[in-house]
Amino acid sequence: MVDINNKQEKCSLCRQEYTSINTEVTPGVKIYVCKTCLESAKHNFIWICMNCGKVHVRPKKLVIERTNNFELKRAYMLCQDMQIIQGIDMCIECDPEGILNYMQAQKAGMEC
Ligand SMILES: [Zn+2]
Ligand SMILES: [Zn+2]
Repeated sequence: MVDINNKQEKCSLCRQEYTSINTEVTPGVKIYVCKTCLESAKHNFIWICMNCGKVHVRPKKLVIERTNNFELKRAYMLCQDMQIIQGIDMCIECDPEGILNYMQAQKAGMEC
């Protein structure tokens, strides 16, 4: 869900632009997203690490092509036209080994 506030905050993704657009990335957690980053979410899946704050951007096409898991692929394809910015508990830099399993587990949360 994308919301617009009166308050202006720095974009949580690029940390450069100020914006009043915010979106819930995981239940109860909202981040601010500028227009440029929101636009980029049309073509990319964007994950933001709740642990270290790092932002991971992957082209949707590439993610879908590389996914071997049929169900996950289907879930991603359903989300193809949506602007998805998702919070994750850890990223590859926090936990390089746990991340793959984690991404797979995220498919439950990918239902739009
Ligand atoms: Zn931004
Ligand atoms: Zn991280």
